[in-house]
Amino acid sequence: MTTYRAGQEIDSYCTKCKLDLTHKIIAVVSNKPAKVECRTCYGVHNYRAPKSAAAVASASSATPRAARSTSSRTASSGRSVDPEPPMAPPDHARIVLYATSEKFPVGTWLSHKVFGVGVVLREIAVSKIEVRFDSGTKVLVHGMTPIAS
Ligand SMILES: [Zn+2]
Repeated sequence: MTTYRAGQEIDSYCTKCKLDLTHKIIAVVSNKPAKVECRTCYGVHNYRAPKSAAAVASASSATPRAARSTSSRTASSGRSVDPEPPMAPPDHARIVLYATSEKFPVGTWLSHKVFGVGVVLREIAVSKIEVRFDSGTKVLVHGMTPIAS
């Protein structure tokens, strides 16, 4: 195990020179170089592992992170490609044009001029149904007696 002492020379990434350079340890905390002084620009800064080593470390840790973000992106984009499976009416489904005067039993697929195609989830009141649309669940009226048309 390496023991660090103040005054010792160590390779560190210099934030001013932006290079891996020889630094002199100014302060050691928990046997880790804390503050270092650049032998080139004499700037004092927190110790940073040489870029070459940091690049290797970040490259190996970046790989699974990239893979994870790719899979989450696939999951979210997969949604738009294949819109929430339960929202797609079955091939044989009869899509009824929504009208307040019509009755829509649970499970009926209907087409609403604003919300699009949705399915009746449940009847919440004699004349109210909960319909699930792509944009969310809406409460619609149904079975209303048409006012003179
Ligand atoms: Zn420097």
